[in-house]
Amino acid sequence: MIITRQKPFSEILEHIGGAKKVFLVGCTLCATVCKTGGEAQLRDMENALQKAGKTVTGWAVLDPACNLLEIKRLYRKRSGEIDAAEVILSLACGGGTQAIVEIIGEKQVLPGNNTLFQGEITKLTLKEAQFDQKCSLCGDCILDETGGICPVTRCPKSLMNGPCGGAKDGKCEVNNDLDCVWILIYNRLKKFGRLNEMKKIRVPRDYSRNKNPQDLIIK
Ligand code: SF4
Ligand code: SF4
Repeated sequence: MIITRQKPFSEILEHIGGAKKVFLVGCTLCATVCKTGGEAQLRDMENALQKAGKTVTGWAVLDPACNLLEIKRLYRKRSGEIDAAEVILSLACGGGTQAIVEIIGEKQVLPGNNTLFQGEITKLTLKEAQFDQKCSLCGDCILDETGGICPVTRCPKSLMNGPCGGAKDGKCEVNNDLDCVWILIYNRLKKFGRLNEMKKIRVPRDYSRNKNPQDLIIK
């Protein structure tokens, strides 16, 4: 799940600037779950923009916004509304927004959301959603050595050889809301009789494994 947070409305208005006509795009997947770009948020955005003196020529919730074919289909069916707009405001993630740019390149496409991280859903009710970051997509997973718990993401220092020695009562010295992840790793390795993994000296990460940009073909 790609976690997004809507930009402050004042910032969105600033980016729209003098443009009067706006087309809105959302996404049925992550942005809907994050309550940043689903149907309800597009309706709210339409109302807010109209109150600010803008005209919304139309809106669509793509299924999902990062699918180029879906954007092509939208443009074929709704080109009148899209062409009538001076700008497109995307309430999808950064990937979805760039997919829209790729297909509807003649229009200026503005991001209405900030894209934060890839996360897991820890709470999801009608009123509230909560997400935790557990993986930074590093491209070289070491969960086999760390009991299935990621130090790259969950240790604020991203220590590969922990713990750092600063933990107090099991809590992290950088952020005591967090359990020290290296203590969690220790306990988990102990449970499975694999404490020898703690003695291993891990070499610095090879960051070329997740250098950008990347692409992948799965057959
Ligand atoms: S080591 Fe951590 S950041 Fe890297 S892929 Fe595995 S879970 Fe993700
Ligand atoms: S206390 Fe633990 S989680 Fe916090 S920085 Fe040190 S090793 Fe990382």
